[in-house]
Amino acid sequence: MPAMGDEPARRLLAAAAGRLGWQHGPIPLALNTVPRDGRPACVRCAQCVGHACPVDAKNGSHNTSLPRALATHNADVVFNAEALSVTDSRSGATVELMLDTSGTPSTRSVRCDVVVVAAGAVETARLLLASGLGNAHLGRHLHDHRFVAMLATADEPVKSGIGPGHSIATLDHVHSSTIPWGGGVLCDLMSVLPLTSAGAPSDPTLPRWGSGHKEWMRGGRSHAFGVFGIGQEIPAESSGVTLAPFLRDRWGRPGARLRKDAHPASILIDDGLAEQAARWLAAADARNIHRQRSGGSASAAGEHSCGTARMSSDPAGGATDPNGHLWGTHRVVVCDSSLHPTNGSVNPTLTIIANAYRVAENLAENWPG
Ligand code: SF4
Repeated sequence: MPAMGDEPARRLLAAAAGRLGWQHGPIPLALNTVPRDGRPACVRCAQCVGHACPVDAKNGSHNTSLPRALATHNADVVFNAEALSVTDSRSGATVELMLDTSGTPSTRSVRCDVVVVAAGAVETARLLLASGLGNAHLGRHLHDHRFVAMLATADEPVKSGIGPGHSIATLDHVHSSTIPWGGGVLCDLMSVLPLTSAGAPSDPTLPRWGSGHKEWMRGGRSHAFGVFGIGQEIPAESSGVTLAPFLRDRWGRPGARLRKDAHPASILIDDGLAEQAARWLAAADARNIHRQRSGGSASAAGEHSCGTARMSSDPAGGATDPNGHLWGTHRVVVCDSSLHPTNGSVNPTLTIIANAYRVAENLAENWPG
């Protein structure tokens, strides 16, 4: 599919990147830019980031791979079910499920040749730890991305308040000499809803209420833009998911306890992203260039969490083999962002999908291996 259409922020930053001698381009987005597979193209609503799509133009497993799997009649989806534990043996594996379909929860055991766990970096580790599986690496090295936002004001309106949001990016600072330790991608700041932009205004002197604020909402908000950096976070062995000693979920199972320690190299990446983002905005003749200090990577596990069952060709170095087979088990495979030894310097979705196809292909060709 072609890239999303042009917009003012892309044109302004593209000209600035050209002046700096940086390569740049539109951003690959997991949405229909044209009608495809019986679903419409994006209609550029104002609420893309963090919300369901009103026209089903966003692509996810719910409207791509799962319907295709069901159409083969070789797959079932069990709704309102939660995996409680996994048991593994040379002769077979079992998943214990809690079904909650009729208001009366009941358990069911499913025997299988292979269990593929793909519940994300937190819940995959929690399920396998609660099942007593895996080696000492399971749950460790929880990491994410370094998120840095530089806010600014443009002389002309550059943000129209419509989706999908990010429009232009440069990869010139990924594994380059400008930012240490892998650096990261720089892109224009996403489109956000009015309340969100009011909470983090591009101009720190902006009145937070009253007529001055309303005036900014009507006109000034479209001048507010910025550059967003997504940096490679360096994994720390001390960061991770463990079973909470006291917290229990509704089925009485231990909750996930999260810990995140920022590696000193990650702080250098943050600073490098901020410096290059400020250069880009200055080249675009932006005013009020400043770094947003709230939010960012404060939480232990964010939207891009990964690393808790990292791949390694040697069990001394990771929780799974390079094909996701959990070390120390016969029939348990992990297939999600938990496998990432590092998360790369851009959003991980495409890597997760590509890796899932690789793991699946290996399973189909080599199991039992
Ligand atoms: S902007 Fe995002 S949520 Fe809105 S229509 Fe397009 S893809 Fe859907």
